[in-house]
Amino acid sequence: VDHLRQSDPDVLKAMDLELQRQRNNIELIASENIVSEAVMEAMGTVLTNKYAEGYPGRRYYGGCEHVDIVENIARDRAKELFGAEHVNVQPHSGAQANMAVYLAALKPGDTVLGMDLAHGGHLTHGSPVNASGLLYNFVAYGVEEDTFRIDYDKVRKAAFKHRPKMLVAGASAYPRIIDFEALASIANDVGALFFVDMAHIAGLVAAGLHPSPVPHAHFVTTTTHKTLRGPRGGMILCRQAWAQAIDKAVFPGTQGGPLMHVIASKAVALGEALQPSFKEHAEQVIKNAQVLAESLMAEGLTIVSGGTDNHLMLIDTRGINITGKDAEKVLDSVGITVNKNAIPFDPTSPFITSGIRIGTPAATSRGMDEATMRIIGQVIAMTLKNPADAAVLDKARGMVRDLTAQYPLYETLKY
Ligand code: PLP
Repeated sequence: VDHLRQSDPDVLKAMDLELQRQRNNIELIASENIVSEAVMEAMGTVLTNKYAEGYPGRRYYGGCEHVDIVENIARDRAKELFGAEHVNVQPHSGAQANMAVYLAALKPGDTVLGMDLAHGGHLTHGSPVNASGLLYNFVAYGVEEDTFRIDYDKVRKAAFKHRPKMLVAGASAYPRIIDFEALASIANDVGALFFVDMAHIAGLVAAGLHPSPVPHAHFVTTTTHKTLRGPRGGMILCRQAWAQAIDKAVFPGTQGGPLMHVIASKAVALGEALQPSFKEHAEQVIKNAQVLAESLMAEGLTIVSGGTDNHLMLIDTRGINITGKDAEKVLDSVGITVNKNAIPFDPTSPFITSGIRIGTPAATSRGMDEATMRIIGQVIAMTLKNPADAAVLDKARGMVRDLTAQYPLYETLKY
């Protein structure tokens, strides 16, 4: 970064502070990850200079022959990884990918059945403050109050009651396996399109550790930066019959020129996900989540639904008399980064919440294993149980420091 050092020390300084933060903290935000150096390198390249509206072989700009190679590699790898008939790698984000699916398949005002945001769904699945909720008539299904799991019979009943044009599955805070086959059969029985947003679990699906929605859904979207461990961005997989409509909905429907440097980085990440080592990594992500959930429960903390099948868990913090907001803050003060998160049936506001969401992808990418998860479980529990005890917080800080020193991050990187 010699040029940046010369030309813009202010921005470089902030980048360096962020690098130090990532090095010195344990990252447990479930939607984040730590990408490889190769994925990062691909993003900071001359590809950012290129306009390439359109698709490989049919662009609206000249000089696209080399970026065509890049986009074709990304598409082919995504198809191979997920067994998809058609892939669009251009969405700038998960939200953009979802909007493109709606634009391709729905008319404004159409009824859509999606998972309640308050039960773990996502803003783009019909929140009234999101374009999805503003343009379409979303109705919600949720989880059960006793099991915190989706009851598929209830989804079926809701589908027959509302007769949606589309059924949406996928979540931001659901720690259990989603039965895509069951949901596809419900969609089929009411004549609805089936759309799965697998943003959180895409890496687990790629590794064969969560059932794939691809054989069952008309459309599957994902972000590329969560468990998939790529650059920030989105992607759409669909059946061939929908290929043209999806491509049109991305460009010119909702976006202009694709971010070719990010697509190059997506290609690199997809290449990494095709390696056998990625499966081992994803297995470790799940093992780590399960061990962390067990150690937190052994410390007396309440884990929503009693555990996890995937990379994340929700802690109900009411049992230890702390709000989600305060839990996030005190954990941050000892070097553990999480986010406050509403739990299903949460009586408090989304700005306060009764819980936190914890995930293991980033810590696992850093090399952390089950033994480390047990220590992290202790640190979280002692911190949350004693948020005003300076001596305990000091001890917790020391334990985090020991762990981050054991797992160095981007060792050769220097800003
Ligand atoms: N879909 C789900 C299920 C998500 O969890 C998220 C992000 O958290 C998104 C979509 C949106 O992705 P992005 O932030 O890239 O727009």
